[in-house]
Amino acid sequence: MKHQNALTTQNKFIRLIPFLLILCLSNIAVASSSVAILAGHLIDPATGKIRDNQIILINDETIVEVGGKADIPAGAKVIDLSDAWVMPGLMNAHAHLALDVAHFKGKSTAYRALLGAYNASIVLKAGFTTIKDIGDSGNYAMADVRRGIDNGWFPGPTIFDAGDIIAPYGNGAPPGTLSPEAPRSRPGYIQADTVDEIRKAVRRTVFYGANTIKILSENPTYSEDEIRAAVNEAERLGVRVSVHVGGKGVTDVILGGAHSVEHGLFMTDKQRSLMKKHGVWLVPTLFSPEHLKVAKGSSDKRAEKVAEILFDTLQRAHQAGVKLAFGPDIIADLPDKDRAETALATLSIWTAAGIPPSDILRSMITEPAELLGIENERGAIKAGFKADIIATPNNPLENIDALGGVSFVMKEGAVIVAP
Ligand SMILES: [Zn+2]
Repeated sequence: MKHQNALTTQNKFIRLIPFLLILCLSNIAVASSSVAILAGHLIDPATGKIRDNQIILINDETIVEVGGKADIPAGAKVIDLSDAWVMPGLMNAHAHLALDVAHFKGKSTAYRALLGAYNASIVLKAGFTTIKDIGDSGNYAMADVRRGIDNGWFPGPTIFDAGDIIAPYGNGAPPGTLSPEAPRSRPGYIQADTVDEIRKAVRRTVFYGANTIKILSENPTYSEDEIRAAVNEAERLGVRVSVHVGGKGVTDVILGGAHSVEHGLFMTDKQRSLMKKHGVWLVPTLFSPEHLKVAKGSSDKRAEKVAEILFDTLQRAHQAGVKLAFGPDIIADLPDKDRAETALATLSIWTAAGIPPSDILRSMITEPAELLGIENERGAIKAGFKADIIATPNNPLENIDALGGVSFVMKEGAVIVAP
């Protein structure tokens, strides 16, 4: 009996070998997908505080530990950023990656998807790991760019795509400016003029792949009830609502429960305090006179005037304590700058408006993460968050222009730009 028991034990061990092997191999796999970042200066964009000499441990696409004394697992890949300023990836809450207004006429949606994929790779390499793409991309070009990124065909930022812009009859054109014989609409827009049509438009847009909603409230603006219908329907479908609006229409957008006001020109002090009270974000869609001239063919004088209005909108909102999310409205390619460079050039406008670098960085990471509802998974370097991490050789909290020199980009644990 004793002999038999020994055999049984031996047999049990032999039967266990494959499992032990799998266990060993899986340990090797865990170790090989482990990364340790040595962060010389780790910035928390929510508070503007810096902690020196931190270790960030990453397993696969997730941050698992952050601290001064984290144990680096054997076999982990070590990335030395001990001379750099390290922070979560940047976010842009108002982009049009598949739109180049100067050249999009006569182009197919396929062409625009390729443009979107190209621009997605450009902005990711510059440190933007999350983008809200706010519509006008032909027939859902950006929904397909997002699918391509999700399928792992090519790297890109996390994309929130608005698909068709939901707009009143005429797509926001001033009355009398379109001939009755002109086409009623164009790809990239969906017209909706009643509560029921708005609900249907939200459903349709999400059905075709949008994961956020953009409403254009202009000529005429939507009523509070119409905005609320869009927000209710969007929330039922798990998406959020951004509204292009300015002037009087802003009040209905705030009271209707929208998550953000895009542009927000010509607001009153009363509207700004209402925005603050309701926790609605302003996405101040800044662009330079240079960009405006290329995008809209504006004269020098007109471009300067619009730039002044945009500057005033930003400065007054910041002074009133309105939550701000960075979102430069880049809709055209400039001859000497790519999309990321054009977007980052608008930081000089924030600085000129007297906004401190810590507030600007917060508007580029923490605020958009909250606006997009991803504040528990992205926008901070904490255990359990996705490893979207960037670094700069200079301190952006001293000079925000340091963000123009991003020297390291990690997207969900994958190194996009090596130090
Ligand atoms: Zn826009």
